[in-house]
Amino acid sequence: MPSIDAARVMADLRHLATFGAYKTGVHRPTYSPQDVAARHWLAERMQDAGLAPVIDGIGNVIGRSPVEGPRLLVGSHSESQNHAGWLDGALGVIYGLEVARAIREAPDAAGLAVDVVSFADEEGHYGALIGSRSLCGLLEEEEIDRLTNRSDGTPLRAALESAGFAGRPREQLKPERCRGFLEAHIEQGDALESTNLKLGIVTSIVAIWQYRIHFEGEQNHAGTTRMATRKDAGHALVRLAAAIDRRFPEVAGERTVWTTGRITLDPGAPSIIPGRAEMLFQFRDADPDRLVLLERTLEQLVEAANEAGPCRCRLEVMSRSVPKVMDPRFQDALEAAAERHAPGAHTRMPSGAGHDAQILAQRVPAAMLFVPSIAGISHHWREDTKEEDIVLGCQVMATAAATILRS
Ligand SMILES: [Zn+2]
Repeated sequence: MPSIDAARVMADLRHLATFGAYKTGVHRPTYSPQDVAARHWLAERMQDAGLAPVIDGIGNVIGRSPVEGPRLLVGSHSESQNHAGWLDGALGVIYGLEVARAIREAPDAAGLAVDVVSFADEEGHYGALIGSRSLCGLLEEEEIDRLTNRSDGTPLRAALESAGFAGRPREQLKPERCRGFLEAHIEQGDALESTNLKLGIVTSIVAIWQYRIHFEGEQNHAGTTRMATRKDAGHALVRLAAAIDRRFPEVAGERTVWTTGRITLDPGAPSIIPGRAEMLFQFRDADPDRLVLLERTLEQLVEAANEAGPCRCRLEVMSRSVPKVMDPRFQDALEAAAERHAPGAHTRMPSGAGHDAQILAQRVPAAMLFVPSIAGISHHWREDTKEEDIVLGCQVMATAAATILRS
């Protein structure tokens, strides 16, 4: 069995965190100078590990094993959210690097090929999961033309140009030569920590269904319009949001979550009754039947709001993704490795967050391993994981990777 080098894993993770260091986390948005420097450093580390590295036309860093034959792809993403944590994405990339090194160094693992990847922009500074979609042939040139940075509006084309990646070919996955994809990630929640478990084997990545809900009332004077006659779109919105919170627990599954992420009142002034209002609403679940039930419930609540009046309420579907089931044999391999290195300290669980693995799963068998997040904090510079948990997770990935490649 391959044996990882704990000191090497920690040193690489800490070095990666120096690119865009911010407090105890990192600020490394996609294609920023810090992100580009980190990608070049990763390519060098891949070279040192005996892999052939390439940074492609979307910024994906891929290190290919010189070993011929079917290969396993292991990795994650290396950019961060703004002013966020040092492990989100970075953990899975450095695990990939270490798994490749450990397998190369193991005397009994000759002939096993591990390729390593750091995807670009999983975090969506420009688009959703564009690096993994590009590798899987799910990103058109027209979309690249269209995308812009969500914070400052920079066109993606211009960002690729200044990063030095424009004009390079975009690497494509060859499913017939790839056994599958393994991604490790911090859990970003507290399910593992709160149950004293060390490892989560991901069963599926939840679907996200998103809606824009419009309310139409009548804009008027906040002082002279009597309560009995006003049509306050803001009131209507708040009443619906409260009705959702009352009704959803009755139809929700154990892991269903729902969120009103944005509310806008128009025109949005203290002395004007809002004539229009809008809320962005989403729910997540891994069960397709549950998603349908939640949507039907939402439709009923909107209907009831319309019947009650006096404002008009309209439900607009923004997007509906499908849950991505992780490969059962890969899950078994991860579970067996977890049991071997941490008996009884692992569980199977859905992922409430989106990950590159959900894209890869559309092309090849894919699976994910979670390690605990301290206090469940992520997308914040305080995000962290105990060193012993980081080391354990990496060893489990190496063992599982070897098992999968041998099977
Ligand atoms: Zn991530």
